[in-house]
Amino acid sequence: MDTGAASARRRLLQAAAALLLPPARAAEEADQPVIDRLDVAGSQIELQFAPGFDQPLRGRARQWVERSAQAVVAYFGRFPQPQVELLLLPTPGAGVRGGTTFGEPSPYVRLRLGVDTGEPQFHDDWVLVHEMVHLAIPRVPRRHGWLQEGLATYVEGIARARAGLLPAPQLWGALAHDMPQGQPKDGDEGLDHTPTWGRTYWGGAIFCLLADVQVRRRSGGALGLEHALRGVLAAGGSYAVAWPIERTLAVADAAVGQTTFGELYALLKDCPAPVDLPALWQDLGVTLQADGLARLQADAPLARLREAIAA
Ligand SMILES: [Zn+2]
Repeated sequence: MDTGAASARRRLLQAAAALLLPPARAAEEADQPVIDRLDVAGSQIELQFAPGFDQPLRGRARQWVERSAQAVVAYFGRFPQPQVELLLLPTPGAGVRGGTTFGEPSPYVRLRLGVDTGEPQFHDDWVLVHEMVHLAIPRVPRRHGWLQEGLATYVEGIARARAGLLPAPQLWGALAHDMPQGQPKDGDEGLDHTPTWGRTYWGGAIFCLLADVQVRRRSGGALGLEHALRGVLAAGGSYAVAWPIERTLAVADAAVGQTTFGELYALLKDCPAPVDLPALWQDLGVTLQADGLARLQADAPLARLREAIAA
C-alpha cells in the first residue's frame, strides 16, 4: 500500500540494512530488506522481510502467510482488510513468536520469525492466524480487551481446523485443556474489570464459545459465530476502526437476528459468573484425554453442533 506510513517503514528497513551491514557483505541477499506482495481473495498483503532472512526461508514464509490468510478467508468469507502490511523481523532459532497487530495509521501485523524456522513449525503455527483474526474485529477500549483477545484465541484454532491444518481431536483437546484458565478467580469483578491474562485470553474465549453455541442453538444450526462476525465486517467493522463494544455486539446480534451477544455481555461484564464448562464439554461430546487430544462422541446431545463449528 502506498500510504505515507508504508513508505516510511520501507525507508526504515532500507536504512537499517545500510547501517548494520559491513560493505563486504552488503551484496548478500539475506542482508537486504525484501518486499513481497500476495493477493489473497482480492486483498493485498504486503510482506516485508527485514534483513536477515535467506531466500529459501522467505519462500516457506510466503506459503505460510498464504495458507494462514486462506484459513482466515474461509472463516470470514473474505480477508478482513483490503490491504495490510506484514512485517517479519528475524530472530535466532526456529518458530514464530511475538506477534502484534496495529490498527493505526493503517492496519499492519508485526511478527518475530526464527531464521531457522522449518516447514513443521510453519505448519503448526497459530500466531499468524491469531493476528489476522484481530484484523477482523473493531478495536475496543482497553477494558474490553477480552473481546479482541478472546475472539482471536477462539477463532484461530477453528479457522485452522476448518482449513485442515489442525485435526478436530487436537482442536477440542486444546480448548478443553486451556479454557479453564478463563474462569473467574477470587476477587474477580467480571470481564470488563478483571484484566488478568487468563480472563483476557481464555475468559474472552469462553464468551465466544458460549456465543457460538447459543447462536447455533437458536438458529437451529443454520448460523454460527462466523456469520455474526461476517456481519460486523460487512458493516465496516474491522481493526481499522475503533467502536464501542456495545456497537460491535449489537451489529453481531443484528447479523444473526438474535440478542445472544448483548445478553451474554450483560451476564459476564460486571460479575464473575463462572461457566459450567464440564457440563458443556459433556453436551458437546468432548472428553479430554491424558495425551491432550479429545475423544469426540458422535452421539452426544450437541455433537452435530460441535461438528458444524469445526467443519
Ligand atoms: Zn492477540
